[in-house]
Amino acid sequence: MRAPHRPNPIALCLVHLDSIEGNNLKLSGLDAINGTPVLDIKSYYEQDIIFSPDTPYIRPFHPVMRRNIFLKEALAHHQEACPNLHLAVRMVLIAGEFMGHLNSRDLNLTVIGSACLADTLQGLSRARLVNPPRFCYEENKAVSQSIWQKPGRRLTITLR
Ligand SMILES: [Zn+2]
Repeated sequence: MRAPHRPNPIALCLVHLDSIEGNNLKLSGLDAINGTPVLDIKSYYEQDIIFSPDTPYIRPFHPVMRRNIFLKEALAHHQEACPNLHLAVRMVLIAGEFMGHLNSRDLNLTVIGSACLADTLQGLSRARLVNPPRFCYEENKAVSQSIWQKPGRRLTITLR
């Protein structure tokens, strides 16, 4: 289902395609009992409706496309095109270059700055406060900074 105007009770599950043998697909991670009919199969990409730190990452090739996707996601999450939303988009573009997938379970984000910057960065990185905890925020009116950390790597981006 791709439209909210056509709700239906069909389950949706993100699985890993392990192999293809003729007309048989070998999967792992299917959340269904034996005999459940499969009605449709689609490839998954980052902007699809399932999101979790475990979803696969497909990075848009073109930088303008990456910026436009982040901007669209930022507006959908933050609901206002304020200056800190645009700053957050610039920060995630830089962070993506150095840290890879920003929705990774082992990537932690600390934001020091305005609530708008924190909200937008949290939405774009999908870093939650719990389960698993990946996000910290410290309100500060004088500083706009994001700190991205994963094992063996740390990136600090500060607005000057
Ligand atoms: Zn705002």
